[in-house]
Amino acid sequence: MNCWNVGIIGGGPGGLMTAYLLQKYATVPFRATILEASSRLGGKIITNQFAAAPVMYEAGAAELYDYSVVGPDPLRALVAELGLPTTPMDGNKVITAGADEWEPHAVEALEQFDRRAREWMSPWQFYDSDWTAGECDPLDRQSFQSVLAEILDDTVRRYVQTMIHSDLATEPHLTNATYGLQNYLMNDPAYMRLYTIDGGIERLPQELARRIDAEVLFDHRVRRVERTPDGCVRVSSRHGNKPVEREFDFVVVALPNHLLPTIEWGGDALADAMRRHHAHYNYPAHYLRITILFECPFWRKHINESYFMLDAFDGCCVYDESSRNGNDTHGVLGWLLGGDAAARLSRLSDNELVAMMLDSLPSYLQHGRTEFVEAKIHRWASAVNGMPSGYPTRSLDTRHVPEPTRHPNLLVVGDYLFDSTLNGVLDSADFAAEWLAAEMGHRANRSERRTKTR
Ligand SMILES: Cc1cc2nc3c(=O)[nH]c(=O)nc-3n(C[C@H](O)[C@H](O)[C@H](O)COP(=O)(O)OP(=O)(O)OC[C@H]3O[C@@H](n4cnc5c(N)ncnc54)[C@H](O)[C@@H]3O)c2cc1C
Repeated sequence: MNCWNVGIIGGGPGGLMTAYLLQKYATVPFRATILEASSRLGGKIITNQFAAAPVMYEAGAAELYDYSVVGPDPLRALVAELGLPTTPMDGNKVITAGADEWEPHAVEALEQFDRRAREWMSPWQFYDSDWTAGECDPLDRQSFQSVLAEILDDTVRRYVQTMIHSDLATEPHLTNATYGLQNYLMNDPAYMRLYTIDGGIERLPQELARRIDAEVLFDHRVRRVERTPDGCVRVSSRHGNKPVEREFDFVVVALPNHLLPTIEWGGDALADAMRRHHAHYNYPAHYLRITILFECPFWRKHINESYFMLDAFDGCCVYDESSRNGNDTHGVLGWLLGGDAAARLSRLSDNELVAMMLDSLPSYLQHGRTEFVEAKIHRWASAVNGMPSGYPTRSLDTRHVPEPTRHPNLLVVGDYLFDSTLNGVLDSADFAAEWLAAEMGHRANRSERRTKTR
């Protein structure tokens, strides 16, 4: 029987999940090759350590979303299948400048907004929303800014914006009402809960890599992809100064949308299809992470949760990184800035950023500045998508096969096709792996039938 060659471009979560699931679903033999530009697997999942002390922090993805309260959750199931222990994360505190006690009319305005959000989408509709295509909600056409503008009370509007700004990673006028409201509802445990992986989220790609039977080509940056005359896909990469060419029966491009134009797509049909695919999802959004190691967790008397929100930098999330791995020798706070503030401040020096983060702490935590030990900065400009699944939402086939006529064996996988999260990239990898397994099976059957009739 034929052994299919499958090339996977990108060794981030999307590429690894695709390889892992294909291994599960395939009914015919295949060989997988992962081409990874860097010298590590895991992409934007990076669990790092400080130099001054063996204390961990998350430099990229920092939380996993758990939908199992509503229905089956494939990511939760995958984490369990890989035997990774988890811990729930929580955080309800939103620290805004101004009065701590709200006037009754402000409380009423927040309750009204909250009611409206829930009436718009139930936990089940929220859970199911990534899978609907074609029929768009009228809120898809409206900006989230227009929803915020309907909140007449300034304090409440600022509170809601602070709560979700770092989740959106973009500005309210640059995304739609649907995405904004979904991110607001995510704070309600009836819709979704948060958790982390003990010992670091990078254990997820590490465990996947351990179980995948694939050739991994590190330091192979893919430059060009094109169809060969016999319908295979040729992938050209660079390894140091050396050009490398490989041909595959099927190729999966598991890269974030903003990196698709860094590849030359050979032939007019593919070049045009990839240009249109990229344009449909081109809503660049930005993150900036500043993580600081302190001698001790000086904030715990006031705040004892996995994270809290600050209204500085248009709304940012501050993670108590030291709470996630049971570290009791030091304290670690990680600021996650999103949107314009992240893009703008990324240009500042590390020292300037650290000073700004310390300044952003409320007055009752300012004494903690003296506990500073070390800081790590991670700049993630354009690395995520500010309006995932694009507009209008497309069918799953159209999302994953950009040029079905001459390149039906070239698929894309990415979180930007769903919701910009690890759950989304798993949904995408699952679709691609099932599709590939079915197609490999059909082709194998066809060639077997041809051999028999000869
Ligand atoms: C700061 C930040 C915080 C986040 N927080 C969360 C969170 O809390 N929860 C959550 O669910 N999601 C979060 N995300 C999103 C999450 O990181 C992504 O959903 C996930 O990483 C997408 O996986 P991917 O494989 O598609 O892309 P990536 O993780 O970007 O992996 C792509 C891989 O392709 C490689 N590559 C790039 N170019 C080439 C090339 N030309 N040739 C070969 N290889 C190439 C890269 O080196 C990388 O290894 C966050 C993202 C960021 C930036």
